[in-house]
Amino acid sequence: MSFKSTPRNIALLSASGAGIFIFTYLLIIQPKEGNLPQYLLLTGIVVVLGFIVNLFLFRSYIHNRVKIIYRNIFSQKLDGGIDNKIKALSMSEDVVDSVGEEVKEWATSKTKEIQILKELEQYRKDFIGNVSHELKTPIFNIQGYILTLLEGGLEDENINRKFLERALKSVDRMTTLVEDLDLITRLESQQLELKNDRFQLSSLVLDIFNSLEILASNANVKLISKVADNIYVKGDQSRIRQVIVNLVVNSIKYSNESDALTEVRAHDMDEKYLIEVSDNGIGIAKEHLPRLFERFYRTDKSRSRDEGGSGLGLAIVKHIIEAHQQTLNVRSTEQVGSTFSFTLEKG
Ligand code: ADP
Repeated sequence: MSFKSTPRNIALLSASGAGIFIFTYLLIIQPKEGNLPQYLLLTGIVVVLGFIVNLFLFRSYIHNRVKIIYRNIFSQKLDGGIDNKIKALSMSEDVVDSVGEEVKEWATSKTKEIQILKELEQYRKDFIGNVSHELKTPIFNIQGYILTLLEGGLEDENINRKFLERALKSVDRMTTLVEDLDLITRLESQQLELKNDRFQLSSLVLDIFNSLEILASNANVKLISKVADNIYVKGDQSRIRQVIVNLVVNSIKYSNESDALTEVRAHDMDEKYLIEVSDNGIGIAKEHLPRLFERFYRTDKSRSRDEGGSGLGLAIVKHIIEAHQQTLNVRSTEQVGSTFSFTLEKG
């Protein structure tokens, strides 16, 4: 059996040491015949008293030291208070070792916290960088058009209207960006209360198709709904509308020039419905798929900006679906097409 260096064992060892010393002293240095039982009794008393005193001293020394450590690592957040935790320390265990373990755990959790804070800081920096970058282009465009108009363009029939229309387009782009940013901020800070509507999916899809008719026909994209009329779902209808709008708009923006079509389907999956928005557009390369739902992530920056995209559409889709505690997925093959799918509770 190996010796375990617990306070109790050390107290016992040192008291026994003192006992052996006293016993040897009495026996060898001051031997008196017939006094052996008294020597043994005295030795026993020395051992017991030594053990009690040692243990008491150890305990108060350890408690004082550990208190300082606990104060630093637990601050005020400990259930039942630090004093109770210290009292619970067992003197028959390796106290230093177990406190050491707690300090190690504390250090690991602090390291993780610092890592998260660093990531958040980087995220914040990237976010501000992205927002200012996104705003720069339309602002410079508007500035350019206004300057040209002021420097004589206003009187030039060939460009005055055209430049004003272009400036308006840039204003629209900024408005979209600001609205998307506002929504994403509210979604991320969970300030947005979701309604629990029950609605017919097919009529929502048809309504969306009607509102996007001009956009789709300008891009020669055929919109097809394969959603049966008996499908009712649960969720915040206006937010789900936004999800489908964002996905259908993307399918139009990233469509191919000929025979382009977007199809919305719904599949029965026992407790839920799986809703799919499919297109036969330009598709997305595999390496982009894992990051596709991040804010401002784009596979083709120039095309997205030309189409007036804020780069936030899919991030908003993800937030809305996650706020509904549902799942979202994407499958895509370059030059073949993409399918975005999400689940909804049955209504
Ligand atoms: P954006 O405003 O740039 O469209 P989104 O978040 O809606 O922002 O989309 C992110 C990126 O994902 C787009 O820039 C585009 O590269 C890609 N993408 C989204 N939907 C499709 C799609 N249906 N087909 C091909 N690429 C797509």
